Amino acid sequence: MAAAKDARVLTAYDYIIVGAGSAGCVLANRLSSDPDVRVLLVEAGGGDNHLIIQMPAACSIAARDPRFDWGYVSESEAFCKNRNILQHRGKVLGGSSSVNGMVANRGNPRDYDAWAAEGLPTWSFAHCLPYFRKMETFGGGANEWRGGDGPQSIERCQATHPLYQAFLEAGTEAGYERTQDQNGAQHEGFHIAQSFTRKGRRCSAAAAYLHPASHRPNLTVLSKTLTRRVVFDGARAIGIEAQTDETICTYPASREVILSAGAINSPQLLLLSGVGNPTHLLSHDIPVVADVPAVGQYLEDHQIVPIKYATPEGLSLSRRFRGLRPYGIGLRWLFFKSGLGASTMCEAGCFFRSSDTADYADIQHEFYPLTAEMGNPEANFDDGFMFSMGLMRPGSRGHVTLKSADPKEHPAIVFNYFTAARDQRIMINGLRRTREMAAQRAFDGLRQGEIVPGSDIQSDDEIMAWMRSVASTEYHPCSTCRMGVGEDSVTDGEGRVHETEGLRIVDASIMPHNVTANLNAPVIMIAEKLADVIRGKSPPPPSKLVPYY
Ligand SMILES: Cc1cc2nc3c(=O)[nH]c(=O)nc-3n(C[C@H](O)[C@H](O)[C@H](O)COP(=O)(O)OP(=O)(O)OC[C@H]3O[C@@H](n4cnc5c(N)ncnc54)[C@H](O)[C@@H]3O)c2cc1C
Repeated sequence: MAAAKDARVLTAYDYIIVGAGSAGCVLANRLSSDPDVRVLLVEAGGGDNHLIIQMPAACSIAARDPRFDWGYVSESEAFCKNRNILQHRGKVLGGSSSVNGMVANRGNPRDYDAWAAEGLPTWSFAHCLPYFRKMETFGGGANEWRGGDGPQSIERCQATHPLYQAFLEAGTEAGYERTQDQNGAQHEGFHIAQSFTRKGRRCSAAAAYLHPASHRPNLTVLSKTLTRRVVFDGARAIGIEAQTDETICTYPASREVILSAGAINSPQLLLLSGVGNPTHLLSHDIPVVADVPAVGQYLEDHQIVPIKYATPEGLSLSRRFRGLRPYGIGLRWLFFKSGLGASTMCEAGCFFRSSDTADYADIQHEFYPLTAEMGNPEANFDDGFMFSMGLMRPGSRGHVTLKSADPKEHPAIVFNYFTAARDQRIMINGLRRTREMAAQRAFDGLRQGEIVPGSDIQSDDEIMAWMRSVASTEYHPCSTCRMGVGEDSVTDGEGRVHETEGLRIVDASIMPHNVTANLNAPVIMIAEKLADVIRGKSPPPPSKLVPYY
């Protein structure tokens, strides 16, 4: 990895990648594997060599640490009691993959087939599966669904705690299927979780893709450097303007500028650069380069609510985080990379249908044998367990717009959770089904009363009022620069920004819609696929496997 000061003496890079997150790390590795290609990777955050990033159990501490987090909060959310909702985003090598919860899911094949049906035929699941396999080394072993030699380690969790076992059993008792591999032939059902870990440590995209490529002389990484805007010659992107401390430099790109700044920052950068809705741009005195009105619109996220039950004292993992015990957890992890420190704390989960009329699973549970929430700074460690219930394919749409033309100012983020009536219905039904799961025999002796929402919350109106007061994010914003073929898209099916040349986006922002999964694996798959496109490599043949729906 060339030193930052070398950047000044190079006349041009072939590719400039903005953002060393999940997608940016993949691209930096794959594009620089050609020694004749010079790649510059620019990252606003710093290095990722910190214990709280490496130790899986510390993920919520890492996510909240201002050294690694952009610190975004939404604008006042009209449909959520005017609350400002926190949205952590990684600002560090590895991006959000360095601070995320490490829960590894691909999504349902139908998610990708729906992308294909919207005019993007090469994004069907059959086309994506070879790249899901290419990206990973699955600890459970390679097969026709799973990869065995990719950079990204994915491991199956242990799930030995009695509460995980009760959760899995309760699913069967309540009539749901059990899947042995939610990232294999069968997505839907109750499962033991899989995680982005390797031998007890977090395996971020930086660990998987960037650090192994760091010796390459044709790859330069500029960290602690904020990209301010894309530089254009007419409609052609010819470089970026970026700021390290107080020094502002222009870095030229001879082939492409690729934005991998994530679902919040990629649309912000486009807008700062003059690509977007002309009325919005001119209101901030930004000259219009390209009229692409969909930039920043159509924001989709997975909203979640926590459903918590009390347990008899000492049963849940909460007790392990009281007093001096966390030091013991930390020391064991430090010396042996084992014990609770090596756990993501979410070792079981499920994808299920909120009602019998749902076409396929529309709700996810991440199941925790404790009650602390990732995004809640007042994390409590009461004895209990928690279903973190997420709405997978929301109908509500939010947006990201500029509050200022200053690149250092945060953009305005509005999620609009629960604006779509169907989202309300799905979540109400999901809560009722969750209560049925919690009432199963498997939890007898382990479950005491419902902590939240609480047994007094029963009618649809009561449930909605509670949800509006507690809903938060699963940290899966996407679709703010959607791929597509219509006015509601920002890029074509290969991530090229409409009405421009030499400018591509590769990250969660280009997902046409959200998927029935956490987003790290889908984003890495997207980056693997588009890396082949950028390098002009023929894709592997589409898979002929038939998933079990
Ligand atoms: C707290 C949290 C928990 C999550 N939990 C999970 C989980 O358990 N499982 C899962 O699969 N997914 C999870 N996710 C989601 C997943 O990690 C993200 O969807 C995914 O990492 C997004 O990848 P990306 O490449 O689009 O963006 P990011 O990984 O966010 O990368 C964007 C990068 O661009 C940089 N950048 C932005 N603007 C600029 C600029 N102007 N100049 C220079 N650099 C810039 C950022 O600093 C960042 O490094 C979680 C996310 C968070 C934040």
